[in-house]
Parts: sequence; structure tokens; C-alpha cells
Amino acid sequence: MKTPCVAKCKNHEGICSGCFRTMTEITGWRLMNDEKQTKTIDEIKGKRSTHTCSSCGKPAYCDISAGKSSCWCFELAKRDTSGIESPDCLCRECLTKLPLREV
Ligand SMILES: [Zn+2]
Repeated sequence: MKTPCVAKCKNHEGICSGCFRTMTEITGWRLMNDEKQTKTIDEIKGKRSTHTCSSCGKPAYCDISAGKSSCWCFELAKRDTSGIESPDCLCRECLTKLPLREV
């Protein structure tokens, strides 16, 4: 089975700080077919992208931009994006690193 897991999985407020899969993707991984796994890995690695991350400039993938009604980032605990001016989403790596939004 394909997996992007790098054997240092750690739940970082809704996303793994090792392989950058959301908790839903990790728990549902074994139930995904090969095609879906490949797609998800490509989205994480930036092989499939909808735009570039406004923070690091690497390819990023937004499900909304791709025409879906929800995005992987909705599952995460809300990050503090107040310092980011661009309306574009960040890549998984940059979003994971942001501090949580204060409530
Ligand atoms: Zn980035």
C-alpha cells in the first residue's frame, strides 16, 4: 500500500506534522482506493496543485479552487492567518506551522 507516512506521525491540531495528512485522511487511508491515495499524495507533495503557496512559493492544492465544496484545511484547528495578506491558501506545510488562532 502506498503511504506518505514518514514514521513520525504526530497530530498537530488536526494535521500530521510528519506527512501533512489530515486526521481524516490518516484514519480513512486504508479505505481509499489506489487512485485516491495517489491523488492525495500528489496534492500533498505539490505534484497536483491549484496555486502557489503565498508563504513559501511552492505548489499548493486547494480543494475549493479545484471545485469541491469543502477543503482539507477545514478540518484543522483554525490557524492565525492574520499576518498573511494574500487571499490564497497556504500549502499544508506552512499552514501546519502557523500558531493557532487565539479565541
Ligand atoms: Zn507554503
